[in-house]
Amino acid sequence: MAQAKFQTHHGMVDILPGESEKWQYLERIIRETAAEFHFSEIRTPVLEPTELIARGIGQLTDIVSKEMFSFSRGETNYVLRPECTAPVARAYVQHHLDQRGGAQKLFYIGPMFRAERPQKGRQRQFHQFGAELIGTDSPIADVEIIRFMMRIYEKIGLTKTTLMINSVGDPESRAAYKTALQDYFRPQLSELSEISQQRFETNPMRILDSKEDEDQKFIEDAPLITDFLNEACAQHYAEVKQYLGDSGIIFVENPRLVRGLDYYTKTAFELISSDVGSQDALGGGGRYDLLIEEVGGKPTPAVGFASGIERLMIACEALGIPLGEEPALDVYVVTRGEAAQRWAMDAITQIRKLGKSATMDFSGKSIKAQFKDADRQNSRFAIVAGDDELKSGSFNFRDMSDSTETPKTLAEILDILR
Ligand code: AMP
Repeated sequence: MAQAKFQTHHGMVDILPGESEKWQYLERIIRETAAEFHFSEIRTPVLEPTELIARGIGQLTDIVSKEMFSFSRGETNYVLRPECTAPVARAYVQHHLDQRGGAQKLFYIGPMFRAERPQKGRQRQFHQFGAELIGTDSPIADVEIIRFMMRIYEKIGLTKTTLMINSVGDPESRAAYKTALQDYFRPQLSELSEISQQRFETNPMRILDSKEDEDQKFIEDAPLITDFLNEACAQHYAEVKQYLGDSGIIFVENPRLVRGLDYYTKTAFELISSDVGSQDALGGGGRYDLLIEEVGGKPTPAVGFASGIERLMIACEALGIPLGEEPALDVYVVTRGEAAQRWAMDAITQIRKLGKSATMDFSGKSIKAQFKDADRQNSRFAIVAGDDELKSGSFNFRDMSDSTETPKTLAEILDILR
């Protein structure tokens, strides 16, 4: 086939019929689970102020330093949101959601944008679902967020996953840890990758996140954050583990888990699948007690997660887990002549009112071509209408699975469909 003149941008994909049903199925499960956990949906704009994202996520992160799709119009700087936690935090502050009382339980589903190098499981426009629990520092809230995330995967049937957890401490614990890391890396600084050398001064914890080969042997023996947690952080972490255990959630402690975004405090977690390829993180999250204040609100503790829908789909495909299928059509009305077409327009309306799907030919195809079309659309039944049928009021009602036909009035057909 000749290549179309216009194509989607690199790393951005169309979701076509046959695929969109899988999305709808997943979105339905996410929404159902949100309802069970009593989280309310929040929908924020796709464009956000650049400054919000830079502050919220952190200037030194890859997302902000090199992956933002941003542009200006006049004095205003826009960015296509790369994630949704900073936007939700902005909305929380802007609309004084704290005044609704109690902790706010919010979830979202939507497209996110990062100018990353596309590969399997990594796109420039991708989709996340996620949740935020804002206004409580209780470790029970951390566990509630993790339970919410895990429940979605469990419902889908994707249970071959590993939950990794860690505590990244608070600013006090991290200051001590940062010094220890710098003391450790300093003698070998010139042997580290260029990117790690850049991170050494400003954000040495991110060196632990490095994917560069030359860094790995140094990372292996680096000091661990868990040895630097102050009492409050250590206790919080112990309680999270205790409650996870009580909830029957299996986890692996990974003291090197730091996550890409700067706003995390205390709990950090990631859900990994070996069935997605090299981009193996299905989702992740953690506590971000400093973010709301960072974006202009009162100090407000919060915890959340975000998961990628594309990676979830890749894992399901690899494991043969079925997602939604293109729905079959209930009735196709095959017509001969203009009077029959007019009759069919009314008939499909009556069928649709029963909550069944119905369609007809719109382009004056032959009877044979209409039956082919009905087959292609996977129709369960066909009704055949021409001048004779209209006169007698009796129509051939065909079961497409075995091609048996019985004469029926429209009222009888509606009864059968009902
Ligand atoms: P993050 O906000 O980086 O913690 O990402 C959370 C989840 O979003 C990841 O675990 C992935 O499942 C998904 N994700 C992040 N970036 C991409 C991307 N470029 N393409 C597809 N999925 C992504």
